[in-house]
Amino acid sequence: MRHFFFGGVNPAPHKESTRRKPIARMERQPSQVVIPLVMSTGEAATPAVKPGDRVAIGQPIALGQGLSASAHASVSGRVVAIEERPHPWGGVCEAILLENDGRNTPWSGRPEPLDPTQVTRELLLARVREAGITGMGGGAYSTAEKLRQAAGRVDTLIVNAAECEPYITADHRLLLERSDKILQGAQTLARALGAQRAVLVTEGDKLNAAEAVERRLRKRSGKVELCTIGTRYPLGAEKQVVQTVTGREVPPGGTPLEVKCVVLNVATVFAIQESLFRGKALTHRTVTVTGGAVARPRNLWVPIGTPLRCLLEEAGGLREKADLILTGGPMMGTPQPDLEVPVIKSTNGLLCLTGQERRPADQESVCIRCGKCVAACPMHLAPVFISQAVRQNELRKLPKLHPEDCMECGCCSYICPARIPLVELVRQAGQLLEKGGQAQ
Ligand code: SF4
Ligand code: SF4
Repeated sequence: MRHFFFGGVNPAPHKESTRRKPIARMERQPSQVVIPLVMSTGEAATPAVKPGDRVAIGQPIALGQGLSASAHASVSGRVVAIEERPHPWGGVCEAILLENDGRNTPWSGRPEPLDPTQVTRELLLARVREAGITGMGGGAYSTAEKLRQAAGRVDTLIVNAAECEPYITADHRLLLERSDKILQGAQTLARALGAQRAVLVTEGDKLNAAEAVERRLRKRSGKVELCTIGTRYPLGAEKQVVQTVTGREVPPGGTPLEVKCVVLNVATVFAIQESLFRGKALTHRTVTVTGGAVARPRNLWVPIGTPLRCLLEEAGGLREKADLILTGGPMMGTPQPDLEVPVIKSTNGLLCLTGQERRPADQESVCIRCGKCVAACPMHLAPVFISQAVRQNELRKLPKLHPEDCMECGCCSYICPARIPLVELVRQAGQLLEKGGQAQ
């Protein structure tokens, strides 16, 4: 294991309540699912069904083009409406509402499983596009597009199972329970993309999963390397993982492709494996339902489109008032005021924090120039100067401070003793720069 200076912070992991809980199917299926037409970067997908149509699991119901991904029915039943609904990323978005008939009928047009030895680059790209796969670790970028750009240009495929956000154990459980399929997916991907190395990265606190992978590796002939990294947050972020595995630094504003790497989240690799060898579209995913306010924290296998409310009910509801509800982890998650919003392809967790668990909401005070935000920033930025430039409207200083390189990891806000909302101010600075540095 190599060591680099990354900055970062050490938040309490809080993974104990779900790390030993196997992924469970939902006992009560949702009566209705809401499939937004936007679940990836790019334009909204175009509906391929109309109200009244009958659908089966895996049937394409909205077609993506270019950067956007297609969407598929995650339950069998009937289309009830296509209308605007609240979206977990904020605001509203057109969505297809499906009434669940509870029969779990699979779509008869499901593509045939492929023979592992016959997966060509073209077949891989076509199958991944057809299955509507997107980044499932938060990025939500079209996976078909990412693979198209990477094909023939990368020497290293990195499967990221680091899952460094506190509380979330969805990827940990998937790696532990489906390691064989994930390794098969990684080998197939590396071969089809022309990458010489395939490296699976996990954090040191997932020893049981790493052992499971090692056992499988001993039995497999193909080569996948296992790399265990430290548990410091955000060592598992894309650019940090590339540097740990290859020693190469992704240039500011660049992507891993520029240093001949492609990084895929472990759940994405599992979805690719399912699409290739079982003909399955991306209709379900693992979601960790946790936090001190949740009665029975657990890991669930959830149909995409399930309202967050149903996940919470499946976990026994709230045992005490939640002070903050988020999708994702506490560092980079998105607050969710409305539990009717659905699980989408990038939703890895539903987190319900008590007042005690939340970072103390002290009053903001003045900067004491301690430099902790600078030391913690994994992108080597100076959040203190960026925030001051924004607040004092000294926007001409921004270009040299490169707020556009911020990965919104939240380390600066987390560490700041003055409780200055640094990540929001750095984000604001990036937006101002994009608009040409005009004052608000
Ligand atoms: S400035 Fe951005 S990248 Fe740096 S610590 Fe803050 S949120 Fe993370
Ligand atoms: S961590 Fe907060 S108090 Fe310390 S230098 Fe940065 S902004 Fe100022």
